[in-house]
Amino acid sequence: MQSQKQFKRRFSFEFFPPKTDQGKEKLQVVRNQLAEVNPDFFSVTFGAGGSTRDRTIETVLNLHKQGISTAPHLSCVGGTRAEIAELLDVYKENGINRIVALRGDMPSGMGASGEMRYANELVAFIREHSGDHFNLEVAAYPEFHPQARNAEEDLKNFARKVEAGANSAITQYFFNPESYFYFIDRLEKLGVTIPVVPGIMPIVNFSSLVRFSDMCGAEIPRWIRKQLEAYGDDTASIRKFGEEVITEMCEKLLKAGAPGLHFYTLNQAEPSISIWKNLGISEREKIAF
Ligand code: FAD
Repeated sequence: MQSQKQFKRRFSFEFFPPKTDQGKEKLQVVRNQLAEVNPDFFSVTFGAGGSTRDRTIETVLNLHKQGISTAPHLSCVGGTRAEIAELLDVYKENGINRIVALRGDMPSGMGASGEMRYANELVAFIREHSGDHFNLEVAAYPEFHPQARNAEEDLKNFARKVEAGANSAITQYFFNPESYFYFIDRLEKLGVTIPVVPGIMPIVNFSSLVRFSDMCGAEIPRWIRKQLEAYGDDTASIRKFGEEVITEMCEKLLKAGAPGLHFYTLNQAEPSISIWKNLGISEREKIAF
């Protein structure tokens, strides 16, 4: 973990672009609540294959102009170089200076995979097209990507993104901090030393957490799964237990030198804010890199 301690901490919240007017209004309220703790940036997801293209642009520009730097996610599957270049230009013209660059997952039945196959090609393309204008974040997988041929290959593939020009990374969420510590140690041995910020998923709903975790390859430790199962429909107990577990994990991560936290908010303010407050993250602690 030594390499991570040199980086200043930064804290961010992720949203998805709302579909309806009601969703937009709700996100505005959530944005205002989260803006109060003054995060370093917000980010907005991008449906692979461009399925949320216009909504992502609209949400990003709307949030960005309200004063907190906002980073669009951008995935390359299903897209052409020309389409991606056009998006980069729109973001640059509107003062956006950070992008989360991803491969994405092609929804089944959506046809060809596009002109770029992996995120390292997207990172290289962004550098070629926009030079050093954007601060580029990439995805990292402490529990390894579900499609990786093996753990070693996955680490090397992560290193390719850094070689292509990524500045920092955000991890897939995890509930085993040891997987993150081990991942960082392996990167250090490969000589890869960019900030790798843990992605944090607050626990609010058991069944959707299980579904989502199975899909993205995040392991829910047995003791957490069993305890959540025991609460059944008792949402208040699930949230209370979830808040305690995630707060403790975040404390452990920050104490060990993690360079900040990135919260997957699912467009809800309260779960992330509670954890933030429990951690007592102060202005002094967070300085953006
Ligand atoms: P890559 O880094 O390209 O890796 C994908 C797989 O290919 C891995 O198994 C890797 O080992 C392998 N690989 C990589 N490069 C090579 C290579 N050169 N040769 C051979 N194999 C290779 N998805 C969305 O659709 N929209 C979002 O907004 C979104 N946001 C995300 C934010 C974060 C922080 C994270 C962690 C994930 C996000 N995802 C999002 C999910 C992500 O798109 C998927 O996990 C996807 O399957 C992989 O994307 P990647 O950028 O990690 O891909």
